[in-house]
Amino acid sequence: LFGEVPQATPVAVFKLSNDFKEDANPKKVNLGVGAYRTDEGQPWVLPVVKKVEKIIVADNSLNHEYLAILGLPEFRSSASKIALGEDSPAIQENRVGAVQCLGGTGALKMGAEFLRRWYNGNDNTKTPVYVSAPTWENHNAVFANAGFEDIRPYKYWDAEKRGLDLDGLLGDLESAPKHSIFVLHACAHNPTGTDPTHVEWMQVAEVMKRRKLFVFFDSAYQGFASGCLDKDAWAVRYFVTQGFEMFCAQSFSKNFGLYNERVGNLTIVARDSDNLKRVLSQMEKIVRVTWSNPPSQGARLVAITLNTPELFAEWKDNVKTMADRVLLMRASLQAKLQALETPGTWNHITQQIGMFSFTGLNPKQVEYMIKERSIYLMASGRINMCGLTTKNIDYVAESIHETVVN
Ligand code: PLP
Repeated sequence: LFGEVPQATPVAVFKLSNDFKEDANPKKVNLGVGAYRTDEGQPWVLPVVKKVEKIIVADNSLNHEYLAILGLPEFRSSASKIALGEDSPAIQENRVGAVQCLGGTGALKMGAEFLRRWYNGNDNTKTPVYVSAPTWENHNAVFANAGFEDIRPYKYWDAEKRGLDLDGLLGDLESAPKHSIFVLHACAHNPTGTDPTHVEWMQVAEVMKRRKLFVFFDSAYQGFASGCLDKDAWAVRYFVTQGFEMFCAQSFSKNFGLYNERVGNLTIVARDSDNLKRVLSQMEKIVRVTWSNPPSQGARLVAITLNTPELFAEWKDNVKTMADRVLLMRASLQAKLQALETPGTWNHITQQIGMFSFTGLNPKQVEYMIKERSIYLMASGRINMCGLTTKNIDYVAESIHETVVN
């Protein structure tokens, strides 16, 4: 019965981690997977998470009954609040709702499924969906899997200047068919680590509004770009002030270190509360046939943290600790490459933000790094800055130097 099943290609980032595991070189370094590591190279359970876990265990009133289809209400509302801001006019006007989802991926999936069925009143298999070039590799697949047939790249990265291709981006917005869907990274763009400035975001919003394009924000790294949650939500909040109806997929995998708890939220900004009510009613239908009800542990943990002022303050502090370590590693790697006089410019390492750096190493150089130096990074040249530590950074810098010179 399964004789005709072809072998699927492995997911690149997980294959890289497996190859890393099997590498016997004691000097090996994993700069692939997008997860935070301490300076000891270990995963970090946030202190605030440990504290809230104890609160949950001690609470005898909790049980394992099903949650509502759309999830834990106190999680959904507090998650939307950190995206849109406490004083968001849209929240005050009761036109913001949310769906608790399985991670940021689940939030993208729910949004995509809904848009295919209901966006603009049509079945939307032919509506173009634009994702940045390059982007997180799953964007394309999630939208294709939801039934969208026309997924297109929009210009984003200028490889030569190692920065944003603003003219290309604005040009693609201008020429996209009316009502096309655009997936925008809310902050800390993956993989380039390059976000538009406020002025550039304003230009993007102006074109999108004029050309009636749909904004689907993907917010997987709130807090990682600047260390400040509010600053990292600037673009999302600006679009709300401009009157957009939109979606924002939020992941709490990275900023809470809750990767395997699958905590995500799809924030929906609708035109009015009546629209919102009907959108949520259809979301219920989609959730019901997908995972039926979401899991509670991670969402409860996030909700308690966000809704308790002392814990919220502690979480913000924990996020800043992670963001600051990344900044330190950026400055350190750049300084080391400059000290080694590695050919090329390396300013982009400190100019880029968030968890990743787009090094500019080409696929051949990446192969050399992996094969000859046991340093594992994505074929695109993307490195996870959190994989660098004070112990391995000299080895990594020397290896990049050797690779570039060879
Ligand atoms: N969006 C982007 C840009 C990501 O980089 C990731 C994870 O790497 C996600 C969404 C999905 O996050 P989650 O693990 O919460 O599904």
